[in-house]
Amino acid sequence: MIYEKSHSLFNEAKKYMPGGVNSPVRAFQAVKREPLFIKSGKEGHIFDADGNSYVDFVCSWGPGILGHAHPRVIKAVQKACEHGLTFGAPTEKETELAKLISSLMPSMEMLRLVNSGTEAVMSVIRTARGFTGKNKVIKFNGCYHGHSDCMLVKAGSGLLTQSIPSGSGVPENCTRDTLVAEYNDISSVERLIESNKGEIACVIIEPAAANMGVVPPKKGFLKELRKLTEENGILLIFDEVITGFRLSPGGAQEYYGVKPDLTTLGKIAGGGMPLAVYGGRRDIMEKVAPVGKVYQAGTLSGNPIAVTAGIETLKILKENKDIYSEIERKSDILEKAFKDSGFNVNRVGSLLCPFFTDKKVQTYDDALSSDTEKYAEYFSYMLEKGIYIAPSQFEAMFVSYAHTDEDIEKTAECIAGAGKFIFNS
Ligand SMILES: *Cc1c(COP(=O)(O)O)cnc(C)c1O
Repeated sequence: MIYEKSHSLFNEAKKYMPGGVNSPVRAFQAVKREPLFIKSGKEGHIFDADGNSYVDFVCSWGPGILGHAHPRVIKAVQKACEHGLTFGAPTEKETELAKLISSLMPSMEMLRLVNSGTEAVMSVIRTARGFTGKNKVIKFNGCYHGHSDCMLVKAGSGLLTQSIPSGSGVPENCTRDTLVAEYNDISSVERLIESNKGEIACVIIEPAAANMGVVPPKKGFLKELRKLTEENGILLIFDEVITGFRLSPGGAQEYYGVKPDLTTLGKIAGGGMPLAVYGGRRDIMEKVAPVGKVYQAGTLSGNPIAVTAGIETLKILKENKDIYSEIERKSDILEKAFKDSGFNVNRVGSLLCPFFTDKKVQTYDDALSSDTEKYAEYFSYMLEKGIYIAPSQFEAMFVSYAHTDEDIEKTAECIAGAGKFIFNS
């Protein structure tokens, strides 16, 4: 394939934006290539500046569960645009979206709309701290919760007791109260609770981890976490920015039958527009300003265009419950293709990830044992064949309702080819 136009657009972009991109993983550094500049998308496909077409399994990192440019969503957005883009005042549609979310995910008794997953997480943690009057937060190694200061941590060498900033520009003061536990290891949570008795506001987790590759929760892990937090007066927050409306209409909490106190949503919730959500128990959300004293605000929060895209997308998901069995069926075909071709693959619903390690991947350390050079080879093989997958080992492959049986068949064939190329050479 030829990537001339993308190459020259990239050179120009690099002059004005760090790395030529507006979010680091887009730069393709992890797979030692240059990014493609995308011109358009239609259903399960995207088209780059050079006119190459790809079956798209990035789906904008999750939002694209219905594929690109769904006619109903586009039409609703176009119509909404004609009435003005933003007012900074309440609109009826915000309540419509809130009701819709609440009907799909009953734990969301009360919620607030914000603009990004990062903002939702930052705000939900403030709310949990405000409600409990406690400062410490437990997160899990390998879970990503956006880029707010207190979430940018990695486990320190002090065996899960101390966390350290995972990048420069994050003061240690900001991460001092963030404790890091091991995903799928309930005893690591018990130890942290024991050594920080009465000081922990909340535990935040991706109920199915999808930012260290895809790592499902072990059977019973989330239920044990629910029990442990409840017994200790600690709030449980599910960060469902990826899993919300993806694993089921009611997200991972419906899929696994575990009810958190608070939840964050994003990605699919905005139907492709910048929109995210935090919410949960009414008694907790009533602590948020102007009812309570936990401050949070946003000029563009509840933006009418984003809200319209969200409503239309969620309505389609609500009206067509077969969407979930369909994407599961297609994902199952891909999972089989991976397995038959010698890959070590994890799958939860329509999220997949092949790892290049002999270990069964259940923790962050297991994920880190994957051979990322091999992932880069796999990535390039697929790209050259017209299959667009995440340019990093530590991301998910997203299957959408718009992927046709033909798309899935072609992808399965490419996976088989990639397996031969990587494992038999
Ligand atoms: C993407 C993501 C975020 C951050 O959302 P942004 O909209 O990129 O700020 C937070 N949590 C999880 C689980 C995510 O996958």
